[in-house]
Amino acid sequence: MTKEENILTDSFGRKHNYLRISLTEKCNLRCTYCMPESGVLLTPRNQLMNAKEVLEIARLFVKNGVTKIRLTGGEPLLRKDVPEILEGLSNLPVELTITTNAILIDRHIEILKASSLKTINVSLDTLHPEKFNTITKRDQFKKAFDNIELLLQEGFHVKLNVVLLKDFNDTEIIDFIEFTKNKPISVRFIEFMPFDGNSWNKSKLVSYEELLNQVKQNYSSDVLIPLANEENFTARNYKIQGYEGSFGIISSVTNPFCDVCNRIRLTANGKLKNCLFSTSETDLLTSYRKGESIEPIIQEAILKKKAVRSGMNSLEDFEDLMNHNNRSMITIGG
Ligand code: SAM
Ligand code: SF4
Repeated sequence: MTKEENILTDSFGRKHNYLRISLTEKCNLRCTYCMPESGVLLTPRNQLMNAKEVLEIARLFVKNGVTKIRLTGGEPLLRKDVPEILEGLSNLPVELTITTNAILIDRHIEILKASSLKTINVSLDTLHPEKFNTITKRDQFKKAFDNIELLLQEGFHVKLNVVLLKDFNDTEIIDFIEFTKNKPISVRFIEFMPFDGNSWNKSKLVSYEELLNQVKQNYSSDVLIPLANEENFTARNYKIQGYEGSFGIISSVTNPFCDVCNRIRLTANGKLKNCLFSTSETDLLTSYRKGESIEPIIQEAILKKKAVRSGMNSLEDFEDLMNHNNRSMITIGG
């Protein structure tokens, strides 16, 4: 297959080999930056991809060049058929990953161990139980924390996703870095992004620059070690000399990674999003159910991908995203 024929290559030559599949719009937590206060209108069950459809559509993407699949949501481990999905995807020649809030890890640990998953991304925004209750609106800190320990004991590589919010958990940046001292964990600080219903505003953002300044005030340059960027990197990674783990900063707001973007997203109801911030999406599931070939539809969607953040070139445009009609994060799948 030549580069031009590859349906996952866009008009800027970016090859999309990383597919993020949302398994559900439902969640057992209510993180304020993700789930709108008013809740979300759930897609009727019969319009969501069933396990067989998830696997067949994933297989088609793999045939066309996808080499990495991440399961996300909502909370992906809430799906009753998650064992079937994990087993099916483990048989594909891809790097399989998952992003979870960890609440149901203990329930699924044997299934996770039997799958091809090696790395698990867990979202945890604070190391304090009361603050966890505030941000997630659920009293589940201990469960999440114990399950992170369980994942480490079982030999998974754990990446901790921490969405930074000004005056909420920016005071815990150093605590999170210290958390990597004796644990082989990669902490990933994420800039707070605007989505439908999450009351984003610039004053709540903790930027890459602010974060790094705080880090530099606490650690001298001889112990703060920048790590090499991975291919198609989204995080700038560092470690403190002698610490077991590392940390990284994902600056999607102040310093996006669009030029090396290799990601596409499939929502739980089978819509393809060519960019996290695109307000349009392409329905694959309806055509798939009619028995039509969806490859030309996928290619058309990929070719429509814009160079930068779905056409929002400046930070001002991006700030205006709240006025666009994008989905809430919980229904996109982060
Ligand atoms: N429920 C799972 C979890 O929380 O890990 C998976 C779905 S969640 C939508 C995926 C990731 O998106 C999480 O790491 C979450 O912190 C991140 N996220 C959600 N809303 C965000 C926002 N407004 N800005 C930045 N990251 C966000
Ligand atoms: Fe649920 Fe994850 Fe969104 Fe929190 S970030 S509400 S855990 S989907």
